[in-house]
Amino acid sequence: MTTSNNTTGTAQSSPSQVTGMDILVRALRMVDIDTMYGLVGIPVTEVAYIAQANGIRFVGFRHEQQAGMAAATHGFLTQTPGILLTVSSLGFMNGLTATANATVNCYPMIQISGSSVREPIDLEQGTYEGLDQLNIAKPLVKAAYRVNKPEDIPTAVVRAYRAAISGRPGGVYLDITTPCLGAIMDAADANKLFYTPVDLCPAMPPSPESVKRAAQLLASAKKPAFILGKGAAYARVEDKIKELVSKTGIPYLPMSMGKGVMPDNGPLSAVSCRSTIMSDADVVVLVGARLNWLLSRGRGKWSPDTKFIQFDIAAEEIDVNRPIAAPVVGDLASSLDAFIAALPDKMNIDPEWVPKLQAETKAKNEKFKQRLVSNASAQPMNHWSALNAIKPVMAANPDVILVNEGANTLDDTRVCIDMTLPRHRIDCATWAIMGMGMGSCIGAAVATGKSVVAIEGDSAFGFSGMDFSTICRFNLPVTVVIFNNGGIYNGIGVNMAGTSDPAPTTLDVRARYDKIGDAFGAKTYYVTKPAELTQALTEAIASKAPALIDVQLAADSGKESGHIGYLNPAALEHIVV
Ligand code: ADP
Ligand code: MG
Repeated sequence: MTTSNNTTGTAQSSPSQVTGMDILVRALRMVDIDTMYGLVGIPVTEVAYIAQANGIRFVGFRHEQQAGMAAATHGFLTQTPGILLTVSSLGFMNGLTATANATVNCYPMIQISGSSVREPIDLEQGTYEGLDQLNIAKPLVKAAYRVNKPEDIPTAVVRAYRAAISGRPGGVYLDITTPCLGAIMDAADANKLFYTPVDLCPAMPPSPESVKRAAQLLASAKKPAFILGKGAAYARVEDKIKELVSKTGIPYLPMSMGKGVMPDNGPLSAVSCRSTIMSDADVVVLVGARLNWLLSRGRGKWSPDTKFIQFDIAAEEIDVNRPIAAPVVGDLASSLDAFIAALPDKMNIDPEWVPKLQAETKAKNEKFKQRLVSNASAQPMNHWSALNAIKPVMAANPDVILVNEGANTLDDTRVCIDMTLPRHRIDCATWAIMGMGMGSCIGAAVATGKSVVAIEGDSAFGFSGMDFSTICRFNLPVTVVIFNNGGIYNGIGVNMAGTSDPAPTTLDVRARYDKIGDAFGAKTYYVTKPAELTQALTEAIASKAPALIDVQLAADSGKESGHIGYLNPAALEHIVV
């Protein structure tokens, strides 16, 4: 083990003494952590230096929330916990936003934060960055531990790792006090603390009875459908789902980040038939998808007669919003293997069901194409003309990972850009939050080495825009496309007071976001016409270097709250409760 006991991070070999920070880094290496995202300062600066000296890539950010979004995305894309390193008090809290979001989205990550000396915090005596971080984190994460002694660090790291990836993945908080980080131990004693943990993410096969029950129900179905969620993307079961779909001939509907587990444009894709599945399907199979608000919680347009088979690793997810006829609780890889083996050779599907969905898909696609074509030359551009310009470029680069946030920019991009590969779409996900953009781009590019394109609303970009500089500092192959319609939702809000202040939703439709890219040395573009956008995006992706494209839209393009305006209190009567 090498260590550094100075702030310049110079590595020394075989020291006789080590600090808590050395032990932390070595414990992370023992579980094969190779990347850490974060933002340094007292008391964790040297942790990052030591990490770099010991083969862990440290990606330093401008805001902890974005470092956390990167760690979460890293976790989702690699099935190993992303690591976030934060300083005490506000740095910790900024990062916690992302760790909480990771927990809600089932992304595995570990936030490691330095914290100040305990005694004056507990007695509320007023100390440097004094905050009871562990108790603040606890209700927001899957697990939270504090480490007070360097001897406990290796155990704490392994426990945090197991908690992050076992069962339903989530965010874990590891609080390490300043005295613990700085504590000195004899290297020989410290060496005895390390061990290689056995079976860090054990398979969790379902019960044979649950598999049999589910297989019987599906075999009896006349109008079945699969719903593929981001749990299926995370679990890397695309080959098994492909086998299941081809064996049964049952159509599939992807959730937003489940897109690409099976191709959106495949013959059995029912991506445009959501309402028909809700009202007409007799058996629906949820594969790593929750029956939460994104599926109207199983109410609203859903037929009360639809029976559900639910594959999930979390037993507590079953029966959450309506009774599940056949729960299969286990990890998806084991569950799908058992399920495929248990299915009969012949299904019992109504011969009109699949052709009906296919005809609906064809008609909807045609209508959609017409909408794009009729907007193609709109001047100034709107969301549809911009997406019409982007669509062929993304189709020509299917292995590019798409990051997407905004309101209209999110909703319109999701329906316009087909995905053909799993884990290639990262978006605002379960909470539908804004402010995941730059961090997710960085996590995706660093974790996979692939090129990334972010399609961002101007408001959404504002939450994380400064971390575009991180994309540039690390020279990542990321193109950020900003749809500037000058506002939250759009740029035509009216100030009700009639003063010169802007309306609450108004930003700046004349802002030149490309100049932010110039400041950090990216290749930049300002485009006002669809053909310019197509060319800029093609060139930017091919460059495999940081690029920023400012797309000038009309201020009146887009509507309030995008597709979820019904959730506004003013429209409360429409909310399904
Ligand atoms: P979506 O928003 O795409 O519907 P959700 O995040 O709501 O997806 O649901 C994903 C579900 O997948 C969660 O309930 C989670 O417990 C489950 N899940 C995650 N990983 C696995 C896995 N390896 N095996 C089985 N289920 C999983
Ligand atoms: Mg906007």
